[in-house]
Amino acid sequence: GGDNHKDSSEEEEPDGSARPIQVLVVKDDHTFELDEAALSRILLAEEVQNREVVAISVAGAFRKGKSFLMDFMLRYMYSQASEEWLGEAEEPLTGFSWRGGSERETTGIQIWSEVFLVDKPDGRKVPNDLLSLFGCVPNGTLFSTPCLIPNVYNISQNVQEDDLQHLQLFTEYGRLAMEETFLKPFQSMIFLVRDWSFPYEFGYGQEGGMKFLEKRLKISENQHEELQNVRKHIHSCFTNISCFLMPHPGLKVATNPNFDGRLKEIDREFINNLQVLVPWLLSPRNLDVKEINGSNITCRGLLEYFKAYIKIYQG
Ligand code: GDP
Repeated sequence: GGDNHKDSSEEEEPDGSARPIQVLVVKDDHTFELDEAALSRILLAEEVQNREVVAISVAGAFRKGKSFLMDFMLRYMYSQASEEWLGEAEEPLTGFSWRGGSERETTGIQIWSEVFLVDKPDGRKVPNDLLSLFGCVPNGTLFSTPCLIPNVYNISQNVQEDDLQHLQLFTEYGRLAMEETFLKPFQSMIFLVRDWSFPYEFGYGQEGGMKFLEKRLKISENQHEELQNVRKHIHSCFTNISCFLMPHPGLKVATNPNFDGRLKEIDREFINNLQVLVPWLLSPRNLDVKEINGSNITCRGLLEYFKAYIKIYQG
């Protein structure tokens, strides 16, 4: 696989198709390296640099199915939200995952080389005036990796106390970047719980997720002060918090080394929920337009935010 060396001189495969671009690398000594040239090639392209942008990024610990999910999001975008966006039963899944093997060890931020044009979320009928950009942190935790504006926090099985602490830590950095760039990094945050195994307590999907999260983020007098503070902090950072509970995708997905993402081998229950989750995540009302100084951010502005964010991490 070509994963060991960075090949940032070209954003496309030889056949011209889009691919994930590693724009930020976390090195072994925990310092960060931004590939400004690669990022600029995407964000400063003539036809996008001055357009308003929406960034979708999925953050969380490695090997918890983020790439897998992002690939389905890509399918949805490429099919332009058609009824058949999920694809054929035997079609292998492509995109962020399985490129150069699944043993990807690089920690950092990858973004999709292609940006998509979408409608304005506020219903203004100005088609194709807004771009959505996919970001992904395939390997690495929220804790050790600066994740730019995550709006989906991918976690396994439950919302644990240290998941909340990681989120709090991340928001501290975001706050600093905000002071530097006047960008409000936090608008909405979606907790995506994978392998949820208590559907009899809280059902799969968004409704069960909201009830579950409400309970998890509740502040009560008899909680330890630290637990109360984490919760207060999270509530103060996001204007809109939601949660979605996903079922386990089945043993073939989780354990078969030859699994290539085909629908045929994914549990029905998972697919049913995927069919709700992906259009919901990508619905215009969930796509926040990021703001700087009260005006919407463009691709060019996003590049500046990236640079400010990295500077803070480097201290
Ligand atoms: P990432 O490192 O978070 O991007 O994880 P990947 O998307 O590469 O997935 C890591 C492994 O988990 C792969 O073998 C996937 O087939 C598998 N996987 C994907 N989604 C899920 C899920 O919802 N639950 C479980 N248990 N495994 C999953």
